[in-house]
Amino acid sequence: MVTKMRAAILPGNSTVELKDFEVPKPGHGEVLIKTRATTICGSDIRCIYREHVGKGPEGYIPGMAAGHEPCGEIVEEGEGLRRFKKGDRVIVYHISGCGVCNDCRRGYYISCKSKYRRAYGWQRNGGMAEYILAEEKDLIALPDELTFKDGAQVACGFGTVYEALQKIGVCGDHAVLVTGLGPVGLAALMLAKAMGAEKLIGVEMNDYRIKLAKDLGLADYVFKPGDDTLKQILDVTGGYGCERAVDCSANDAGRQLAIRATRQWGKIAFVGEGGTVNFNPSPDIIHDQKTIYGSWVTSLWLMEELVERLVRWNIHPEDLVTHEFPLEQAGEAYRLMASGNCGKVAVVFND
Ligand SMILES: [Zn+2]
Ligand SMILES: [Zn+2]
Repeated sequence: MVTKMRAAILPGNSTVELKDFEVPKPGHGEVLIKTRATTICGSDIRCIYREHVGKGPEGYIPGMAAGHEPCGEIVEEGEGLRRFKKGDRVIVYHISGCGVCNDCRRGYYISCKSKYRRAYGWQRNGGMAEYILAEEKDLIALPDELTFKDGAQVACGFGTVYEALQKIGVCGDHAVLVTGLGPVGLAALMLAKAMGAEKLIGVEMNDYRIKLAKDLGLADYVFKPGDDTLKQILDVTGGYGCERAVDCSANDAGRQLAIRATRQWGKIAFVGEGGTVNFNPSPDIIHDQKTIYGSWVTSLWLMEELVERLVRWNIHPEDLVTHEFPLEQAGEAYRLMASGNCGKVAVVFND
């Protein structure tokens, strides 16, 4: 067994440093995972890569191995495991909750407020490393039909989207609008389509991402934001607007559009983080009986349900990965993700 491993850390000045770490030894209830794929999340860029601006649950402890979307294979068992074993392919739900508070008992480790809560890649070492020490209770089994790159994206982005779509509910008679087609927005289109949405509309500024959404066949229409975007959406929905909207733009204009392009009695989920939004409650939501949902990550059980559904639907989050790099080129991987001229960016680990 090797004793040293490489890991990428984020100093917070738009660079990546590679460092040697000791390979950790799994204790009681823990496993050692050989990392096979870790994808980069928008929040890694927003809160850590450019500058360490995250606070509380988004606070990064300097020197931690980055990466909160890891997927790999168990190579060493600690004592007292109850379900998982050596050789199992697993996704790491990216927050390790205390396990005993009300939020954790609901499966929402994301919402745990205990001092024992630590997120992988933020307050404990994450997946931009050759090995990850993880707690068994944080693991989701990766079915054989799914790839490690599929699993990595389930760990955060796809899980987050699935939660939001469950909250607003998507049916076969719905037109679904997604504002902001970064990896999370593209995932929202992919899952809404799998859940049966009848018409899919995306709004995005970046030409690379517009083309990607079209090339992957994820949307019936992709509009570039402008003065007439609302009218364009109304025109392709019989003048009514969409039944459901998901904002992944994190942008004031994007959020306003998501609200106003949603029809009477419609539901809107806010997933994109940060920024602000200005709207007029009476005409924009109250008089048209609309509901806005906030949605943050997901629960363990919904993540488990999602992997089951991905197999049933025969769809692969991996399709959104446009670029992949070995760990040695993690700097390039983060730089590309920060530029926005990409789909999902993955760091992959081969034997
Ligand atoms: Zn994330
Ligand atoms: Zn807890």
